[in-house]
Amino acid sequence: MSAAPPQSLHDLGFAELARVLASDGVIPHHAKALWRALQREGAVDLTTHDFLPPLQRWVRASVGEGKAFFLDVPEVVEEIRSADGHTRKFLLRLRDGQIIETVLMGYDGRQTVCVSTQAGCAMGCVFCATGQMGFSRDLRPGEMVAQVMHARRVLHQVDPGKRLRNLVLMGMGEPLNNLDAVLIALEIISDTRGIGIGPSKISISTVGVVPGILRLAAEARPYHLAVSLHGATEADRLALVPVSRRWSLCQLIDACRTYGKATGKRIFFEWTLIAGTNDSPGTAVCLAQLLEGIDAHVNLIPLNPTGGYAGTASKAGKAFQKILLDSGIPCTFRQRRGIDVDAGCGMLKARKRGGTA
Ligand code: SAH
Ligand code: SF4
Repeated sequence: MSAAPPQSLHDLGFAELARVLASDGVIPHHAKALWRALQREGAVDLTTHDFLPPLQRWVRASVGEGKAFFLDVPEVVEEIRSADGHTRKFLLRLRDGQIIETVLMGYDGRQTVCVSTQAGCAMGCVFCATGQMGFSRDLRPGEMVAQVMHARRVLHQVDPGKRLRNLVLMGMGEPLNNLDAVLIALEIISDTRGIGIGPSKISISTVGVVPGILRLAAEARPYHLAVSLHGATEADRLALVPVSRRWSLCQLIDACRTYGKATGKRIFFEWTLIAGTNDSPGTAVCLAQLLEGIDAHVNLIPLNPTGGYAGTASKAGKAFQKILLDSGIPCTFRQRRGIDVDAGCGMLKARKRGGTA
């Protein structure tokens, strides 16, 4: 029988970590020290850490190349800063060579990390750079935790007074297609003994994977849900979001109603404004009708240039917003951040500037 493949310590929640140590005869007391080093201090090398002897012995025997456990510490291929200095995009290389992207954004005094949940994405939305590159693989929980750790380390270096308090799963990939791993990662990231980003500061964004939305509803998860809508009729949405062939707009809205009833939570609807495609006053009226009876907030996202599509002019965008507001639906514009570093929504594709990664 071959040995079990090595496992990432960052994939483990606190209870699992304690169980692993216990199975090797290390008492639970040491699990706290190990968790602290991993999840609060963000250690990148445990062998140089000052642990008590029993834990130090376990670390030397069990963690490292060719041993049972490893740490997820991605290699930084590139860091790109926006001209205004508020956005930093990191290209991170994972152990198997996959390159993913993580973005650290600081505006209005809030520090937010945008995390990838997959390498690539299988959903193929026509206006999204990630969608156009296709799907490589799901990320493990530890690979999501490691992105937050990296952003936290950088923030600490550049501005030790600031804390990373917000997280959005709006990087590469569709979170609800990798939901088991996402939920483990979010438990770890929100654990107050570690990174401690509060569940109410975490948003999961989905293109409309209905079974995932229903599962979040049934399990009453404490995170915010954002649904990327972009079209208010079946045909309009299908033209932009191919996956609505699998789950129709009608099924999606039903799932949102179920989610709203089950959780009592407001749902954020993302609407990327594309000139001449989904930005007319008639479409805004249609959207307002579609959302009737749902506790909804619409987030209008100016399209970031990624191909043949053009963004809506600001006058038309404001008119669209006004129709929703007049219908009693809260509606705000997402700030355009990091456009000059290709780190805006839907621009995340793992390619180094000027060549392939
Ligand atoms: N897959 C998930 C989360 C990642 S995409 C989802 O689709 O919701 C995060 C957000 O970026 C989504 O709302 C998506 O619609 C939006 N987006 C994608 N491409 C964009 C572009 N070119 N300009 C602006 N927003 C875009
Ligand atoms: Fe995937 Fe979201 Fe991009 Fe659609 S918008 S291709 S679901 S990452």
